[in-house]
Amino acid sequence: MGAAPAAGNSLDRERKQLIRRSRPDRSQQVRQTVQGLFVALNLWLGIQFFLWVRSFEQGGDGLNVSRPAGVEGWLPIAGLMNFKLLLVTGQVPSIHPAAMFLFIAFVLMSLLLKKSFCSWLCPVGTLSEVLWKLGRRVFKRNLRLPRWADLALRGLKYLLLAFFVFIIGSMSAEALQGFMSTPYGLMADVKMLNFFRNMGLTAALVIGLLVVLSIVVENFWCRYLCPYGALMGLVSLLSPVKIRRDQEACIDCAKCARACPSHLPVDRLVQVRSVECTGCMACVAACPAQDALQFSLPPRRSAAPGQRWFRRALSPLAAAAVLAFIFFGTILYARATNHWKAELPSAVYIRLVPHVSESSHPGVE
Ligand code: SF4
Ligand code: SF4
Repeated sequence: MGAAPAAGNSLDRERKQLIRRSRPDRSQQVRQTVQGLFVALNLWLGIQFFLWVRSFEQGGDGLNVSRPAGVEGWLPIAGLMNFKLLLVTGQVPSIHPAAMFLFIAFVLMSLLLKKSFCSWLCPVGTLSEVLWKLGRRVFKRNLRLPRWADLALRGLKYLLLAFFVFIIGSMSAEALQGFMSTPYGLMADVKMLNFFRNMGLTAALVIGLLVVLSIVVENFWCRYLCPYGALMGLVSLLSPVKIRRDQEACIDCAKCARACPSHLPVDRLVQVRSVECTGCMACVAACPAQDALQFSLPPRRSAAPGQRWFRRALSPLAAAAVLAFIFFGTILYARATNHWKAELPSAVYIRLVPHVSESSHPGVE
């Protein structure tokens, strides 16, 4: 009777022997390269859009630059409104259609690869990551809020999401089209740019506070406040690709859990279903054991851990390729069907762009 546990223990010890990974993990280098490229793309779009706006502020005679439709990626509310219009009318909306196509592309990413938009592409997510890493470097650690405060604050982003979904959900197709056709709706992108160009004291203080909080607390904005991330997290519940742990290969060192910026107990889960998982693969990068942790489809039934992941695990390059395929594929589709750019006549821009500050939100005097 007494020999059985001893045999079990020795078996456990055998199983838990570390078999080191045969190849170093490059996921964080690949992911950070993608993040850097996406920030560069957004800067380029931002500069081009600024020059375009300036040319219309000067009467339309300035530099000969075209309006980059990609800036509409910064109009998530317009993307959501247009998506509803598409569902209700079956027609691709004519105002800010790129906002909708980019919204669909980011939702598709979450549907396939967890909340990967947040940790691989979103420039705000990238800035957030830079800030908390800076905080960790300076203060040697980041602040972890008590569990009750963390849970309560995590609910805020869902409240914000529910607010937007309720407002947009309760608008009819005519009301949505009417909103988009107002000077406010037409100039939503210019208004967004001008928000940063002519920032008031209150907005600057709020952004300053968010920056400070993001230095101290890991992913403060993304974890507690971003309604877009909340939506992506809910969609990501359907993702077939997840972080998965092989209990036999795992040596229970908990390095994965310590590396997780979303504070998930990866070392105690067989698969990470959480809405907070961004597919950043930081846990996979930290894991020292061969075949213990993967970003993968469900494993095969096989005796050997390595074979279980055969053609199931996603390499960092494959993840980047899937994201690039969805992103560029969606844009190419929108371009091919002539739905990517929706230029208004120049006369409309000449009339509206210089006076954009005068157009207030419909219903607000
Ligand atoms: S579980 Fe892994 S992939 Fe998911 S957020 Fe944590 S570190 Fe990133
Ligand atoms: S890092 Fe996590 S998955 Fe890898 S061996 Fe340690 S506990 Fe197991």
